[in-house]
Amino acid sequence: MADTDTLTRPVSRIDFDRFPRTALCHQPTAIEAMPRLSAHLGGPALFLKRDDCTGLATGGNKTRKLEFLVGAAIAEGADMLVTQGAVQSNHVRQTAAAACKVGMKCHVLLERRVPDRDASYEVTGNVLLDTLFGATHEFRPAGLDMNAEGEAVAEALRAKGHKPYFIPGGGSNPTGALGYANCAQEIADQCAADGQRFDWLVMATGSTGTQAGLVAGFHAMGYDLPVMGVSVRQPHDRQVAAVHGLTQRTLEHLGAGSIDKDRILVDDGYVGEGYGIPAPSTFEAIHMTAQQEGVLLDPVYSAKGMAGLIGLIRQDFFKPTDRVLFLHTGGATALFAYEDQLLASLT
Ligand SMILES: *Cc1c(COP(=O)(O)O)cnc(C)c1O
Repeated sequence: MADTDTLTRPVSRIDFDRFPRTALCHQPTAIEAMPRLSAHLGGPALFLKRDDCTGLATGGNKTRKLEFLVGAAIAEGADMLVTQGAVQSNHVRQTAAAACKVGMKCHVLLERRVPDRDASYEVTGNVLLDTLFGATHEFRPAGLDMNAEGEAVAEALRAKGHKPYFIPGGGSNPTGALGYANCAQEIADQCAADGQRFDWLVMATGSTGTQAGLVAGFHAMGYDLPVMGVSVRQPHDRQVAAVHGLTQRTLEHLGAGSIDKDRILVDDGYVGEGYGIPAPSTFEAIHMTAQQEGVLLDPVYSAKGMAGLIGLIRQDFFKPTDRVLFLHTGGATALFAYEDQLLASLT
């Protein structure tokens, strides 16, 4: 049957109403031009999608995922959220805040993933806010299977009579990734409303749910916007495999087919020495974005993503006429856990 609507609609829509969901997030988040940064770099027109302003406890990308994860926890009758992350995890901070908002308890496992930090690293920044939100925490050494550790702790809590809902690291499973499939639809809607388009979307990629959700969302809608993930941790092949795996599982969850691995784009040139260790290019991105646009990036994720965008511009990766959207995933709370290095980088 001919559907006349499809002639006027730019994309097909995804039905998110079939998934449990809890409102946590200011949305749509703004899309803003970055004219001074674009001119400073002599590059294509740059824009910022302000997911650092999702509204919950200083904002960030995990809030969109948590709408669906906490929705599932409530549907299941849980009374407690259990999750895991690195010590300065933004995901843990947003989960702790979401638990308060819906009246649940929260318990978290913090992995000592970043070497050579002083004692203040484990109390300031995001950890301070986790504590303010009343989340209890326990530490783990680096290198364990943290999702397995978290599942085991949740199981022990269940045996004691609690009703925990376990959220994997970064909220990165097909349920959490729905938040970014939803963001893909939001971006398409904003473009349609403004009669604009973007040629590229660039962002930091870590536990993969953000990139996988976006790619799955655009694919499910038949909307052509390539997504370049800038790795903050893993080398190219491992990150591509991980993002592709979750993209496929998210598409399955959406009932929206599958996608080839060569559609997953990752640049691993900005990791530096490893997760949570800022490189000189990380600090350059923090300084430049602050001083050209008055926007704060964080040293673990968004500044490595921006360093990737800056690097790609310098390599003439984009056409001069391209319009490039950078997804600001938040995280500036962690700046205070890197005060020593940030101060040193400014002198
Ligand atoms: C978690 C996080 C990311 C990465 O998102 P993933 O879905 O884990 O890939 C990027 N930026 C910030 C600030 C984050 O906290």
